[in-house]
Amino acid sequence: MPSSGPGPATIVSVQDPSSPWDRVDWDRIDTVLCDLDGVVWLAHEPIAGSVEAIARLRASGRRVMFVTNNSASLRAAHEGALEAIGVPATGDVVSSAMAAALLVEPGSRVLVAGGPGVAEALRERGAEVVVNDGTGSPDGFDAVVVGLHRDFDYDRLAVASSAVRSGAVLIGTNTDSTYPTPSGLQPGGGSILAAIAAAAGCTPVVGGKPHRPMAEVIAHVLDAPGRPFDATRTVMIGDRPETDGAFARLLGSRFALVRSGVTAPDATIEAEPPVDLDVADLAGVAACLVSTSEQRQ
Ligand SMILES: [Mg+2]
Repeated sequence: MPSSGPGPATIVSVQDPSSPWDRVDWDRIDTVLCDLDGVVWLAHEPIAGSVEAIARLRASGRRVMFVTNNSASLRAAHEGALEAIGVPATGDVVSSAMAAALLVEPGSRVLVAGGPGVAEALRERGAEVVVNDGTGSPDGFDAVVVGLHRDFDYDRLAVASSAVRSGAVLIGTNTDSTYPTPSGLQPGGGSILAAIAAAAGCTPVVGGKPHRPMAEVIAHVLDAPGRPFDATRTVMIGDRPETDGAFARLLGSRFALVRSGVTAPDATIEAEPPVDLDVADLAGVAACLVSTSEQRQ
């Protein structure tokens, strides 16, 4: 049963009967992948208890990595926003912009229908970046990479879709149709991607959660000499089952659902993908993981 409010964490039985664990052994978890929007904050306003929860998870010896489909912000802006609420995060944020950039070959000429984070990741990849302002020629691009940008308009839609019709590959940073804010859901990058895909008459390839390029970014960042990334010792925490839960399944990790973002406290969720922990918020996740560890010491 889902927990609909603050209180003790509820362990939900593993729904995959083929799982090697007949119950979730949270003590094995040494790596925490944590979504940002709807988990840590709502539009950079911290969710109650989230900052303390991250500190508690880190104090227990676990590695905490932030995994966001927000592609618009520069890497330093993600880290700075976390540090502004009291969460040190240098080198600990991976975004769907980084994942989408993996789908582009170095040296490619890329039209960016997205924010500064997309352009940054593509330049780091070695691509030639042209930002779509709705006035340029749509010809000669190898790829169009799409993310959330608030100046998206009809002219930008026309140029981006024409570039795809002229042969560019359509790449999405993510397909999240909305993102949560303190004043409700706002249109996400997935809504812009859907518009361009519709106008271009094609299906995009996607980099961010729940797709494989994001898994490759995480493995690259977390692999360390003598300590390779082990998805079976990892939990993905997120507020969106079809994104965060599906990504956990792709990785082969556990999934903790929090109901502090797009999934309302009283919402009914699908049986797939499986949810290993269903709690109100990040504080509930930390209470489960850390208290389990402490009891076993
Ligand atoms: Mg989220």
